[in-house]
Parts: sequence; structure tokens; C-alpha cells
Amino acid sequence: MDKVVGILGGGQLGRMLAQAASLLNIDVVILDVGPATPAKQVVASRVPHLSHIDGSFADPTAIRTLASKADVLTVEIEHVDADVLEEVRSALPLGVHPAPATIRIIQDKFAQKEHLSARGCLVSKFLRLESSVEAIRDAVHSLGLPLMLKSRTLAYDGRGNFVLKSETQIADALAALGDRPLYAEKWVPFVKEIAVMVVRSARGEVLSYPAVETVHKDNICHLVFAPLRDRDPAVQARARKIAEDAVRTFSGAGIFGVEMFLMADGQVFLNEIAPRPHNSGHYTIEACETSQYENHLRAILGLPLGSPALKVPSAAMLNILGASSSMNDVTTLAQAALTVPGARVHLYGKAACRAGRKMGHITLVAPSDAELRTRLRPLFAALPGTSL
Ligand code: ATP
Ligand code: MG
Ligand code: MG
Repeated sequence: MDKVVGILGGGQLGRMLAQAASLLNIDVVILDVGPATPAKQVVASRVPHLSHIDGSFADPTAIRTLASKADVLTVEIEHVDADVLEEVRSALPLGVHPAPATIRIIQDKFAQKEHLSARGCLVSKFLRLESSVEAIRDAVHSLGLPLMLKSRTLAYDGRGNFVLKSETQIADALAALGDRPLYAEKWVPFVKEIAVMVVRSARGEVLSYPAVETVHKDNICHLVFAPLRDRDPAVQARARKIAEDAVRTFSGAGIFGVEMFLMADGQVFLNEIAPRPHNSGHYTIEACETSQYENHLRAILGLPLGSPALKVPSAAMLNILGASSSMNDVTTLAQAALTVPGARVHLYGKAACRAGRKMGHITLVAPSDAELRTRLRPLFAALPGTSL
């Protein structure tokens, strides 16, 4: 395809983007700290001037170097320097996607909520918050308990969230969230968490993937079921429409992960949006006509988008999370999957294992939901503390 994509961030999302790029002869240059991050391991440079860059995706000089090698820049993480992306954008033949303005809004979760609610998207009530006991007490009085306290910036996997169950925990919350800029969200008593991947082409065409159910454990996405099954079959289309409309409020091409809450009465609240490939969309590699990674590349390079339709009746994705610094549990689970029909193992090549760290995932496809659950059983048996 003769184009060079510069990626800020070289973790597992960059790795899967690079894998998708290699199938289309698209060159990728990765910017991240270290010589052999998960993404850098899977693609070698075709020519010397396209070698990967050892530097931080938050470092202006390193970002400028990346821009000098690429036709388009994109991100696998939103915690990047949006000002520098804005600066290099006009010099790049295909620009920066998603747009730096989009990244800037989304990377501040309070600004993101303001943006979405001002454009008519349904989000839980939220408040700006000073990091003080009095301000949190006021927020409890106006939004009630439990109260979700969130860091505005640098949040992932729930690090940055504190669920305040009583006013006696205010000091603990301030200690846990330190001096990070905070905001408060009214608690959402959802029945399910759901997600939709949405891709927008450079021409503004918007396509959504099926709505999926995401199951979280300790704030980390643990399991995804695709498609979402609900007693009310209208929820599928409603969730997709809400996700598409939310993505239309942002500028720039590419894939977006839209996290939502499903209520008992069928209402759908937006939780947050990721301006990049997303954990809840890993299943698309094996289960959809076109993966989220390939469609992201197609979108940012001005190529035709591919169909997001499911090509199997039922699919699931199970994250392989580290249990400790030992890789033993990771290996046990990955090996268990090797004997399960319809299972595909993705290990990310991370140098070190830690409790809660995403070390890989398993995608499972099946001809029915019942068969999917049968196939999941040996995987859960290899995972202490998990059941269907
Ligand atoms: P991610 O890794 O998805 O970026 P994050 O650190 O940005 O996560 P959130 O998505 O804001 O965190 O929240 C993490 C989880 O906390 C959600 O998936 C959901 O389970 C729960 N949660 C978040 N906000 C609320 C809320 N207002 N009410 C109830 N639960 C919530
Ligand atoms: Mg987040
Ligand atoms: Mg989230």
C-alpha cells in the first residue's frame, strides 16, 4: 500500500495494529520506550530510515521524529501530547488520526463528559471537583452515595477511580487519588456493561460493530461476549445508534471504542470513549469480516472500510491477566486454550508479569451460545475463581 503509519505507543494494541498492517504491506514505525516493546517485536523495518523509535509517546522531540518518517500518525493510547500532534499535523500527507482535538477532549475524562452531554448524549450526572474534603462532601450531598470519584487524566483499568461508599472514606479517597485533578460521577446501577466499536472513514462514513457485553473484574475488562444478548432485542440496535452518534460528535478518522451502561429499563448511558482500538474489540480479529485493527488502518489511510459484521454465530474474548510476577498462570491458561476448538491464543510478549497486567487474551468462536459456553468451561477451570 506504499504508506507509512507512525504509531504512538507500542503495547498490545500497537502489536495487533502492526500485525494487521503487515497483511496489507503497510509500513509501521512505532514510538515507545525500549527496543522490543510488544508492537516492535512483530514488525521489522523494511528500510533503515523506517526503524522504530526508542522514546516516549509524550516526548515532543520523539513525536516530531516519528512524524518525519510517516505519512500519517495514529495512537494506541490517548495519553499523548496533543499539542505536538496538532503542530505536526499539517506537515503530514495524511494528517493525524484521530484528530488531535479529539484526543485532547477524550484524554480529560471530565472534558469528554462535558463534550458528550452538551451534544445530547446521555451520561450520568457529573461534577467538577476540587481535591478537598469539603468539595467531596458537597458532591456527596448533590449526587448521593455510592459516589464514583475519578481522576480526569491518565486513567486506565480503573486506576484513577475510587468508589466512595461513605463519607468516612473521604480521606482515603484523597490519599488514593493523590493530587490528581478529579471529578465526581453519580453512581450508575447498571445491569450490564456493553460496548460498541465504531469506525469512521476519512470521508465521514460511520460504521458500527455489533454491541457486545463486557464483564469487568476489579475494574479490568475480563470477558467479552459477542454479540450482546438481551431479553429486549431492540437494545442491540439502540446501543449501536448511540455509539455511532457519540462518535459523530468527534472529528477525525479511525476506530473508537464506546463503553456504555445498560439499565434495567433498557436505557443506555455512555460511560467513556476510547479514540483507538479497544480491548472490547479484540474479538473482531477472529469473529468479524474485518477486524477493528484493519478497519482503523483503512480509515486513516483513506482506503474503503470493510464490513464490521460478525461471521460466526457466537464469540467470546477472555483476557489473560497476570496473577503475580510469575508467568505460570498465564502459561497454564494459554496452554489450556490450545486444546479447545475455536480458541485462538494471543500472547503479547510483555517483558514482565504483574498482578492485573494484561498479558494476552483468548478469542473463542462457536456455532452457538451453548457451544461457546461449553468451550469456555475448560478455560475457566484453568482460571481460579472464575465461573460462568
Ligand atoms: P478503561 O480501562 O476502560 O479506560 P478507566 O480507568 O478509564 O477504564 P472507567 O471506564 O471510567 O475507568 O471505569 C472503570 C469501571 O468502573 C467501569 O467499567 C465500570 O465498571 C465502573 N464505573 C465507572 N463509572 C461508573 C459509574 N458512574 N457508576 C458505576 N460504575 C462505574
Ligand atoms: Mg478509560
Ligand atoms: Mg473504561
